[in-house]
Amino acid sequence: MDKFIREVPNSFNLPYRIKKLADLAHNLWWTWNPEAVRMFKEIDPLTWDRCNHNPVVFLRSVETSTFEDLIKDRYFLDRYDRILREFTTYMKSGNTWFANTYPNLANAEIGYFSFEYGLHESLMVYAGGLGVLSGDHLKEASNLGLPLVAVGFLYTYGYFSQKITEDGWQEARNVTLSFDDLPLVALYDEDHKPVTISIDLPGRKLFARLYELNVGRVTLVLLQTNIPENNANDRQLTDRLYISDPELRVSQEMLLGIGGCRALERLGHKPAIYHMNEGHSAFLTLERVRQFMAEGKTREEATKLVQESSIFTTHTPVPAGNDEFPIWLIDKYFTHYWSELGMTRDEFMNIAKVKSSWSDEVFSMPVLALRLANYRNGVSKIHGEVSRKMWQYLWPDVPVEDVPISYITNGVHTGTWLARRIALLYNRYLGNDWRERIDDPALWEGIDSIPDGELWRIRVHLKRKLVNYMVARARYEWLHAGVHPVQTVASGVLLDPYALTIGFARRFATYKRANLLFQDYERLLRIVTNEKRPVQIVFAGKAHPADEPGKLLIQEVYRKVKDARNGGRLVFLDDYDMDMARYLVQGVDVWLNTPRRPREASGTSGEKAALNGTLNFSVLDGWWAEGYNGQNGWAIGGTTQNENQDVQDAEDAKSLYDTLENEIVPLYYSKRSADGLPGDWIERMKESIRTLSPRFSMTRMVKEYMTELYHPAMLSALGETEEKAG
Ligand SMILES: *Cc1c(COP(=O)(O)O)cnc(C)c1O
Repeated sequence: MDKFIREVPNSFNLPYRIKKLADLAHNLWWTWNPEAVRMFKEIDPLTWDRCNHNPVVFLRSVETSTFEDLIKDRYFLDRYDRILREFTTYMKSGNTWFANTYPNLANAEIGYFSFEYGLHESLMVYAGGLGVLSGDHLKEASNLGLPLVAVGFLYTYGYFSQKITEDGWQEARNVTLSFDDLPLVALYDEDHKPVTISIDLPGRKLFARLYELNVGRVTLVLLQTNIPENNANDRQLTDRLYISDPELRVSQEMLLGIGGCRALERLGHKPAIYHMNEGHSAFLTLERVRQFMAEGKTREEATKLVQESSIFTTHTPVPAGNDEFPIWLIDKYFTHYWSELGMTRDEFMNIAKVKSSWSDEVFSMPVLALRLANYRNGVSKIHGEVSRKMWQYLWPDVPVEDVPISYITNGVHTGTWLARRIALLYNRYLGNDWRERIDDPALWEGIDSIPDGELWRIRVHLKRKLVNYMVARARYEWLHAGVHPVQTVASGVLLDPYALTIGFARRFATYKRANLLFQDYERLLRIVTNEKRPVQIVFAGKAHPADEPGKLLIQEVYRKVKDARNGGRLVFLDDYDMDMARYLVQGVDVWLNTPRRPREASGTSGEKAALNGTLNFSVLDGWWAEGYNGQNGWAIGGTTQNENQDVQDAEDAKSLYDTLENEIVPLYYSKRSADGLPGDWIERMKESIRTLSPRFSMTRMVKEYMTELYHPAMLSALGETEEKAG
């Protein structure tokens, strides 16, 4: 097997005593260990914020004299030693949930493919929810010890940075990723040439260079095409996420699926099973059939082997959202390929050719994935039902409830999203091993032993932190960005850290109805400007740059936010990212979500909020339809969706205002005890943490992927029976 040279291009001028800060910087483990985050931060808080919490840039930027002071600081050195010990132990430990549960499957690697990964704000290779889910999945796979290797793209430009004009129009700015600033591992062969792979595109070869990123014990392999081997156009192929041009898009997806398989092979990985997170990577199934046939299998045998070892997770609840290509494009890009599969053109097209909503016939990526993966799932109970209905026509002889698509509800990674101070509280009251028992409901019964006052003080602290964050951003923009004064007000300078605060942050797509709150603006104004019981609402979120209705929605919200009549109680924060998401889900009192049913496949930001004691107030769709129990938050409207959208919108808006006025506001402000604690609110908060933290954790989710999908797939891939394994 080839030997590779792995190089970390960054060298820092660190004193010997603390030189391993460089190792920490090059493994994303620190991102979900708040004590490590805090160690970086406290070296130089201002520089840490200026570097967007990027430790590679940070360690290069800190003054030498600061480091020299640190190595004389006993308190710092103790902390450094402790955190490095934890990191080293973690990386070496073989005592994991996976190793203990599946001792015979240590060599059964899982190949995980996704278009985007949301691992940290300093690594902008994600756009939103799908990416954050993949990122959280890798972190949990690392914690549980799953033998998982992931594949994705190293984009030249990160997802855009958002500015809002005075008139509320979203402007998208490029964010160039400087690879020298990222914790990448560059791969070289024995001749010290960069490691590349290639795939065939019409009339040429497309090359991609390989990098690695360490996510705890998990490796993420990233592909990049901006290299001299490629022509000028192909060099731009990994420029951006979610390009709309169909030719670029099909080339990108060929690179992810086919190139991704070759990348893993090139690096010596031999996954037993392959997980496609969404249909973008579905071409990998064809590449694997081709590989099995090259090894001498018949097409039928090869197809069966691929089906039995493939997992496909769909995230799309509407036909229009599916990834599809015109047939002429597949003709152009795959003519060379079907003969290698021993197929005629028609046989090839028939694998995934369906009638689409916008054209006669298309080649559908989810259909390709559904047909070539025997393990298929949606991402919540409702989304499972919706998917079975949507795809029933592929199984015409099967009743809808038996369509073979199951569901595993999304979860969130506790270490990443839980506030450090709350984690410290859990250390004290849930026991020091609580991190190993996150998905155990019995653990969370211990929440009652936390004194109300301690929990409440932390919540007040987190809200103050959010307000300080907003004010600092507003001040910076006022000073540097030439904004209009009203924009400074709109970005939260008038916010009161003691008033009931609601958060609404997500992608601005019309089905999420960010404007539902404004159905009766006069009523909303009465609610937010009530002098005794004020309510504040913080909005944030980007619209896809090509989504004009989404951008109009932002404008509609922004114009209301700027209206002086709300007294500065409505806020819009521009440039939503994982950093802001953390401040918001930890800092607000209530998390609001208003999708049209059943469009929210799962949603995860509300799960992040719940973990931190923030109460959910949402439409009963996606995860919340499973999580809500009547005591742990609030529902908006019922469980059905009226055919007439306007009627439904009006009903939901009324339900929203009624619950807000009659239940949420009174619960927050009244019945304060002598020590100023809102006892009934805290009780609901504890109910929310107790019931939702275990069920909507990434720990529960990844364990379910393992037991329900990965494990059976591994057994059939390895040709083993359960008996033999046990
Ligand atoms: C969690 C998260 C999302 C997904 O939130 P939803 O509730 O699923 O819309 C999107 N963007 C960022 C930055 C996030 O952190």
